Amino acid sequence: MPLAADTVDVSARTRLAPAKINLALHVTGRRADGYHLLESLAVFTRFGDRVEIEPAEVDRLSVSGRYASSVPIDDSNLAVKAREALRSQAGQQSTPPVAIRLEKNLPVASGVGGGSSDAAAVLHGLVRTWGLDIGEAELARIGLTLGADVPMCFSAKPLVARGVGDELSLVPDFPALALVLVNPGVAVSTPEVFNTLEKRDNDGLPPLPRAFDFHSVRNWLEITRNDLEAPAQAIQPPIGRALSLLNRAGSGFSRMSGSGATCFGLFETGNVAKRAAAEIRSREPDWFVAATRSIASEGADGQN
Ligand code: ATP
Repeated sequence: MPLAADTVDVSARTRLAPAKINLALHVTGRRADGYHLLESLAVFTRFGDRVEIEPAEVDRLSVSGRYASSVPIDDSNLAVKAREALRSQAGQQSTPPVAIRLEKNLPVASGVGGGSSDAAAVLHGLVRTWGLDIGEAELARIGLTLGADVPMCFSAKPLVARGVGDELSLVPDFPALALVLVNPGVAVSTPEVFNTLEKRDNDGLPPLPRAFDFHSVRNWLEITRNDLEAPAQAIQPPIGRALSLLNRAGSGFSRMSGSGATCFGLFETGNVAKRAAAEIRSREPDWFVAATRSIASEGADGQN
């Protein structure tokens, strides 16, 4: 899977750590070790955290942004875990101290994979800063030790994830989508959502449409599900209000991402999405609301 340097490089030192949005998420089984088997179509958005890395006298992590106070600032931050995982692989000699600045714009533990995306951005950024000769497969292996979703965050392109989220296939020709992300400010525990799930052996994703546009994507979404949405909503009813506000603001389709509580609405154009976001913000000024575009497949619509 190619490194997505073209889409997530903000500058030589700064990388976007995009939000991961599960457009559809089917739970298809459970392994003997307790891990759930999933089939998911995921996209990544231009709205996300930002990670800046530069050489320093000593290792440092600083965190700014709306959600800075929601993440640890010590060695348990996934940005630091990523740095140390890569360092122990490459050796102390070739991995001198670095300052990592994390702008935490994504709500935490909210189903958009912010921590995994930060870890992926740090790994990519450090490979460049340290000039390491390390292949994608090796990087994916290191990423997997940090979280099941880290390898998918490397690509940042539309993909289907299967298995426990580790079998990835890029979806060609998938367009950029105008989205509004809404988080009602409630935390949802992923294990609790999975425990509440009544049926685990659901059918997999239906075949993808042969050609993609707003309508075919929306029609396909109508015949798919997020199997975690109902259990998450039972635990946190404000998820239902987030979905109905998206619908009332004109979303062509809305759904929860991952194990929640962040929901997304699909809109026909970016301008309509921006207006909808403003309307939702005016009703719920304390919620997280962001109008954004997803990153298209390589060469899909020329808007990357
Ligand atoms: P998923 O979509 O995979 O369920 P998520 O959005 O629910 O991911 P994250 O935002 O990645 O979850 O946070 C998971 C946990 O990791 C939180 O409890 C948080 O405290 C911890 N964490 C450590 N470092 C970070 C980081 N840099 N960003 C976010 N969370 C972090």
